[in-house]
Amino acid sequence: MDVAKIEEGLLSALKPYRGKMPTFDRFPKDGLAREDVLDLINQFYQLEEPRWRSGHVSGAVYHGDQEHVDFQNKVYSIQSQANPLHLDVWPSISKFEAEIVSMTAHMLGADLTDDEIVGTVSSGGSESILLAMKTYRDWARAIKNITQPEMVIPSTAHVAFEKASQYFGIKMNRVPVGADFRADIKAMEAAINPNTIVMVGSAPPFPHGIVDPIEELSEIARSHGIGFHTDACLGGFLLPWAEKLGYPVPKFDFRLKGVTSMSCDTHKYGYAAKGTSVVLYRGRKLRHYQYYIATDWMGGLYLSPTLTGSRPGGLSAAAWAALVSLGEKGYLEAARKILTTAEKIKTGIRAIPELFVIGDPLFVIAFGSKELDIYAITDVLTQKGWNLNGLQNPPAVHIATTLRHTEKGVAEQFLKDLQESVEYVKQHPEIQGSMTPVYGMTSSVMLRGAVDEFLRGLLDTVFEA
Ligand SMILES: *Cc1c(COP(=O)(O)O)cnc(C)c1O
Repeated sequence: MDVAKIEEGLLSALKPYRGKMPTFDRFPKDGLAREDVLDLINQFYQLEEPRWRSGHVSGAVYHGDQEHVDFQNKVYSIQSQANPLHLDVWPSISKFEAEIVSMTAHMLGADLTDDEIVGTVSSGGSESILLAMKTYRDWARAIKNITQPEMVIPSTAHVAFEKASQYFGIKMNRVPVGADFRADIKAMEAAINPNTIVMVGSAPPFPHGIVDPIEELSEIARSHGIGFHTDACLGGFLLPWAEKLGYPVPKFDFRLKGVTSMSCDTHKYGYAAKGTSVVLYRGRKLRHYQYYIATDWMGGLYLSPTLTGSRPGGLSAAAWAALVSLGEKGYLEAARKILTTAEKIKTGIRAIPELFVIGDPLFVIAFGSKELDIYAITDVLTQKGWNLNGLQNPPAVHIATTLRHTEKGVAEQFLKDLQESVEYVKQHPEIQGSMTPVYGMTSSVMLRGAVDEFLRGLLDTVFEA
């Protein structure tokens, strides 16, 4: 397959507005009238909204009921100027963030441990993970004199850990998961060495949605005197409610003594507007290694809890508003709907003989095929308007069930389209091919060789007007 053709296909997916909508690669001489700007923004919105609104997208928009979205937008619009970097100008934002942290911590077992569980609000799951890894690096340097830090993570852990490894100079030991796609307990322990500062498990990992054996792993970490981070970015706001509803949820939170930090995304199943997450620690001492403090700068004393300086207070207000408006009852009800729908989807996929579901997941359902090309099936689904997440090694695809999929008829339509796509690929074996899925995009890209360079070029394209 030729690369130019792939690039052409990607370009039409990434830059659909070229030549069709006004372009501003320089300032317009006179500013546009506000109504005209609003009109343009609305046009883009209306072109993009139907796909996620109708439940055709995996993950991405986790709530999306218009009343809830309007409410989030209203809160943001009231506080859009707020910046918690100015602690004394907007103490309300600090209050919101303190309460977001506390509510999240108590959902995740803070009541059931003797230690104090503390944390901060960040801009998203990746930042929460970056912060936790930086915290362990600085903790280990100060307390254990480790200058060549290493982390042990299962192969399913989110790439944000790899990003942290690159950004902060922490050597990464990625341990293959077992045949059941859960972290391999023995192999994880064997990967620990004197430079190991932290071990990681996910509840659940992004690819296949199968929770790692956090209880065993965190005990191993504890016995070695290293940190243990549970990445609950995805499941943190769903699994606690699933457990209350009687679903089988292995322990993954601060009830386990060995768990010393967690990441948990308000902007996923917390149903908040995009741009917030929570990172939690066992004890204030550990959290202190996250902070950045400057005492001798000409600009005065400077204290910053996270990676960014100025921060969007309006988003923290919106996250707080989501938590307190939904309450326990709202989260429980949302979880009930999502888990019921996910069960329906899982059962439906299992009923298609050419497909198999990976493991027995609760709400992120990964599936593959022994006889057909799963990427070809995904491509046909894409043409039918669906947007799933492609996985690799082994080839598979997943759907992360959200409230969007709980709307009437969505799960049924998905299963019908999936069945038809399987049939289509069976009839058209020529559309098979080995492809590389791009995270966050539906299109699969067939590439051999210079994938890394190609993806750098792809990002260059993204930032072209
Ligand atoms: C989404 C996700 C992340 C990263 O979160 P972002 O908000 O995209 O930065 C990390 N871990 C898991 C398991 C996730 O699902």
